[in-house]
Amino acid sequence: MRYQLVIRGGRVLDPATGRDEVADVAIAAGRIVRVEAAIGDDAERAFDARGCLVTPGLVDLHTHVYWGSSYLSLEADRHAPGSGTTTWVDAGTAGANNFPGFRRFLIEPATVRIVPLLNVSSPGLTAYSGAHENVRHYDADAAYDTVQANRDLIKGIKVLASGLQVGANDLTPVRVAREVAEAVGLPLMCHIGVPPPGLWAILPIMRPGDIITHTYKGRTGCLVVAGGRVRSEAWEARERGVLFDIGHGSGSFSWQVARQALEQGFPPDSISTDVHTGSINGPAFGMTSVMSKVLHLGLDLPEVVRLSTSAPAAMLGMQDEIGTLREGACADVAVLREEEGEFPLKDCEGVTELLRRRLVAELTVRAGVPLEAADLARRDE
Ligand SMILES: [Zn+2]
Repeated sequence: MRYQLVIRGGRVLDPATGRDEVADVAIAAGRIVRVEAAIGDDAERAFDARGCLVTPGLVDLHTHVYWGSSYLSLEADRHAPGSGTTTWVDAGTAGANNFPGFRRFLIEPATVRIVPLLNVSSPGLTAYSGAHENVRHYDADAAYDTVQANRDLIKGIKVLASGLQVGANDLTPVRVAREVAEAVGLPLMCHIGVPPPGLWAILPIMRPGDIITHTYKGRTGCLVVAGGRVRSEAWEARERGVLFDIGHGSGSFSWQVARQALEQGFPPDSISTDVHTGSINGPAFGMTSVMSKVLHLGLDLPEVVRLSTSAPAAMLGMQDEIGTLREGACADVAVLREEEGEFPLKDCEGVTELLRRRLVAELTVRAGVPLEAADLARRDE
């Protein structure tokens, strides 16, 4: 068999299958076809990954990539080479009003995989506030119809639950979003921030498989961690199967809050960046940077890779297709290198910690094709 690409000699770390060994990964027709030692030479392309980690392509559960149609979006293809991230979950940048444009003009032509969560507010994130204060935008029927017409793409519903955005609407957006999620049988991702509504009121509405994002937010000091302690409602929600995502962003990751939560045995269920125009150049940067921060806080490498691949893939119901190097899965692959040195990284409170090691992406492979910045330059000509 002639392979499209063989990635040779790296430490293959695939938490979904438990594989952790030096091996070659062979790809044909965009699929993983073999993972074993010393696969023969018959390959169109080969990549020497000796000394590197070979993991499933990273699944970033919280990004904003509806470029050109919102106040904060990036163009995913432009940031993907060198990121390790092959699946960019767009966390509610589009709502029912503007989802068709997202689909036709960005998701379908993109080289990377964009998985949208539909904002329950019809205009999505076209503006920072205002739109979310208008209760008439929480149109359950429009959201339901949009999901039904795009079931092949949309993997969840997104809602903002922060007084900064929703004004006096308190729990109404969360209630409408939960109703839509129930009707379409998909999970709900809830952005938490400055109350009202308070987390204590939001969590009882959340169902098993629903996702809280911005778990380690500092600033307001009254979210998952309150007064240095993980809130009892958060423990209770986790017990019921509610999931807690990082969603670093520009204002939602505090070294102190993360450390307090971890010390009390409250690790994240997924690692995500919330990359947008205000966080991609720091403090979030990208998946490898947020993963490095979680390593620095003491989680081990296989667990950090799991929280960045198979765990988010399962939260999207996509675990057979992405987040694994199982034979037959889509050949989305990341080749990562662990560097040792001194790497100062800031949280969202302006606090710098000195990391002694970090992960960087050497190669990002989407459906068997290495992503290269040069391809973008050619496209622009
Ligand atoms: Zn976000």
